[in-house]
Amino acid sequence: MNRVGIIGYPLSHTLSPAMHNAAFKHLGMDDWLYDAMEIPPDVLRLGVAEPKRHGYIGINVTIPHKQQVMPFCRADEIARAVGAVNTIDFRTDIGTNTDVAGFIEDLQAHNIPLKNETVVVLGAGGAARAAVYGLWQQGANIIVVNRTPEKAYQMLTDLTLSAGVQQVRVLSLEAAADNSPSLIVNSTSAGMYPNADTTPWDNAIIFPKGVTVYDMVYRPSKTLFMKQAEANYGRAIGGLGMLVRQGAAAFKLWTGVEPPLDVMFEALRSALETSQHPSVTPQDETL
Ligand code: NAP
Repeated sequence: MNRVGIIGYPLSHTLSPAMHNAAFKHLGMDDWLYDAMEIPPDVLRLGVAEPKRHGYIGINVTIPHKQQVMPFCRADEIARAVGAVNTIDFRTDIGTNTDVAGFIEDLQAHNIPLKNETVVVLGAGGAARAAVYGLWQQGANIIVVNRTPEKAYQMLTDLTLSAGVQQVRVLSLEAAADNSPSLIVNSTSAGMYPNADTTPWDNAIIFPKGVTVYDMVYRPSKTLFMKQAEANYGRAIGGLGMLVRQGAAAFKLWTGVEPPLDVMFEALRSALETSQHPSVTPQDETL
């Protein structure tokens, strides 16, 4: 049996096993299995060593271990740039971060131009780091807005040191809107179930007309932020595609097989529909 899986804490509501096992089933890969391993932070070292000792091909890593796991693998250039690992291949011990590819590939799948475009990134957490790094590689003109500006400055200092990221501005939401962005990315957790009535866009600030928004939040499938964009003649895309594509990148890495994206999308959609659980937190659902 070829085993892969996910480590995190807590993990009771992870969607990844449903997505990967549906792909294995669809492709007739009966000798592959993806399972979830809840690993408390104080035993993280064992949480990585044990699956490897038991012959796992690799693992996904989710909250709260994405940063702390870096010393236990060989972080590649992308993981070092973002400062977080979400996928490890035990055959090489290389840890990478597939959120960057998942995000950029989903934008490309929606034919969203990035080179020389003005893009506003809302947030300064792990998801925002992946967004800024990926957008910078694509040649976008990036503006970061965060509720706590100090964290945005810290994120950019880290990205400059780790990856040479430069010329990214930190502005207020109002000033960012005045820069006529063509794309606004929500990388905050505002709007994520169970806080679906929140939005990172303050209604006191005029929403740019006709702008495309990409909301990394995928539950609910249409967030309040997406509705605000649509009410202002904009195009709105939710984060499910990124979630699928970051998983698909790990699938390809471990198996060498082209992932069935449609099957993975469907599996996630139905897992999201059936997991209407009041105790689910955003952190539970990152992968
Ligand atoms: P994180 O590290 O905890 O960062 C959270 C960010 O959200 C911070 O910048 C925080 O601002 C901001 N924030 C939280 N509540 C806010 C509010 N009410 N108004 C404005 N800003 C608010 O989280 P993360 O790992 O970056 O994840 C962020 C979101 O992206 C989550 O919903 C996660 O599920 C989603 N995500 C989706 C995918 C995908 O594949 N679609 C992948 C990764 C993450 P402060 O700095 O001021 O606290």
